[in-house]
Amino acid sequence: MSLVSFCLVREELARTCPNAELIFTMQGLGAGPIIVAGNEEQKQKYLPPVASGKSIITFALTEPSGGTDAASILSQAKREGDHYLLNGSKTFISMAPDADVYAVFAKTDPSKGSKGITGFIVEKGFPGFVPGERLDLIAAHPIGSIYFEDCSIPVANRLGEEGEGFKIAMQTLDFFRTTVGACAVGMAQAALEESLKYAKQRLAFGQPIAKFQLIQAKVADMAMKISAARLLVFQAAFLRDGGKKNITAESSMAKLYATEIAQQVIDQAVQVHGGYGVCKGYLVEKLYREIRALRIYEGTSEIQHLVIANQLLRD
Ligand SMILES: Cc1cc2nc3c(=O)[nH]c(=O)nc-3n(C[C@H](O)[C@H](O)[C@H](O)COP(=O)(O)OP(=O)(O)OC[C@H]3O[C@@H](n4cnc5c(N)ncnc54)[C@H](O)[C@@H]3O)c2cc1C
Repeated sequence: MSLVSFCLVREELARTCPNAELIFTMQGLGAGPIIVAGNEEQKQKYLPPVASGKSIITFALTEPSGGTDAASILSQAKREGDHYLLNGSKTFISMAPDADVYAVFAKTDPSKGSKGITGFIVEKGFPGFVPGERLDLIAAHPIGSIYFEDCSIPVANRLGEEGEGFKIAMQTLDFFRTTVGACAVGMAQAALEESLKYAKQRLAFGQPIAKFQLIQAKVADMAMKISAARLLVFQAAFLRDGGKKNITAESSMAKLYATEIAQQVIDQAVQVHGGYGVCKGYLVEKLYREIRALRIYEGTSEIQHLVIANQLLRD
């Protein structure tokens, strides 16, 4: 799928059903490392059941000790003949512990930092795979921890060569970063549409609140920010689909700006709804909780600032 297509799908699903959006995206993110680095045998075995929805797959990089500094993961895999024995834990893994298959990253040579990380395809049924606890977030999101206790992984399930794992993980995240922006745009768009509808039917001082210029300024501001964010998202996507090799700065700008303004837009939507905006059962209340995690996962806002600055200073 082109990046533009992926962004279109994420935006529209996020606008209409964020839970469906999550499933669609996680199947892509989990399959990403196999698409990037898997051999033909691995692709044939694992991708068709993911595409048909028979198998749930996910991406497991983050550990309890930290997510931002991904190169410092502690999980270790040691080769023993035709198997690796994996020990360690992962947390904040979307779809865990229920997913069937995990793209897992672990150190095979801890002395080499990020160059000592290797990717593996781990099935839930492998001996030593221990499903962990589910995490209860502020918004509905299937997510949890998994543990590996001498988890036995066939060498045939290694992704690429030893030491290529960090590169594979980053290549996967590079593709997805722009699409997080698209998801944020979809959620912000839903908040705007809901606000316009509400403002036209809610009465105050004998007239719809849409007649008040302060409410009009809010919806105008919301629409303008959403359009700007959407343009950044599709700029990054068009550039990549058009063949630009390095869209690191553009995709970070898209993710950073879209997730930050979506938070502001949804906050304004709650304001337009008055007290009902914080009542369970109202869409904007749900969106208010759902949008928050997007500024954290797949590179926090702080890290996106650093990435953009690094690119500018390097150029
Ligand atoms: C809903 C949700 C879904 C997720 N799904 C997945 C998944 O499927 N797979 C997966 O592997 N992970 C997943 N994650 C984990 C996510 O990627 C991490 O939470 C994220 O990378 C941040 O890591 P952390 O939580 O350990 O925060 P930390 O890395 O501890 O960061 C804490 C704070 O310090 C800041 N910080 C850290 N380093 C710097 C720096 N150098 N300069 C400035 N500020 C800095 C961060 O920006 C942040 O504000 C998910 C998280 C959430 C919330």
